[in-house]
Amino acid sequence: PEANSSYFKVVVLGAPGVGKSTLTHQFMTSEYIAFDTSTEQSEREYTVSVLLNGEESTMEFLDAENEVDLHEVKADAYMVVFSIAHRDTFDTAVDLLAELLLDIGTDRATILVGNKADLVRKRKVKTEEALDAALQYDAKYTETSAALNHNVDELLVGMLNQIRFKLNPS
Ligand code: GDP
Ligand code: MG
Repeated sequence: PEANSSYFKVVVLGAPGVGKSTLTHQFMTSEYIAFDTSTEQSEREYTVSVLLNGEESTMEFLDAENEVDLHEVKADAYMVVFSIAHRDTFDTAVDLLAELLLDIGTDRATILVGNKADLVRKRKVKTEEALDAALQYDAKYTETSAALNHNVDELLVGMLNQIRFKLNPS
């Protein structure tokens, strides 16, 4: 893609089992998809065309599991996922946020995602606590249920807005 084209790469990070793959799959069903161009290049790479505020952007998602070297991957946004029902996955997410801030700085969109919000009675991480962590590391926070496809469109749109804002703050 050309330098000024709206092509954004999003790396999906987080502990195993938090719902990264499920979330990425659900993005492909969003009502914001401009037209059905979603392609699955490999098991872990997806590209979609999103129409937001009359502007089309292509977003590529790399489902990175745990093995990614942040220096190696050039991305426009980082999505750090944990499960609100699994405390250890939140700790992993906070470590990742710290690493991102140190390695990448604050000029890239970073979104902390508390997934599995449907597991209400198993919740181990309070919303306020996750919000605090996001604030501390210059990230946004969203809670989703990938299983119920709840708040997933909002996450996709919030991410694109955040990417556009970081490129052109106003
Ligand atoms: P990944 O390892 O991070 O890619 O996680 P997966 O997407 O493979 O999901 C791991 C397990 O969690 C699967 O059994 C999913 O069905 C389940 N899962 C994913 N998202 C949710 C969710 O929002 N709520 C619940 N209850 N389960 C979920
Ligand atoms: Mg996966």
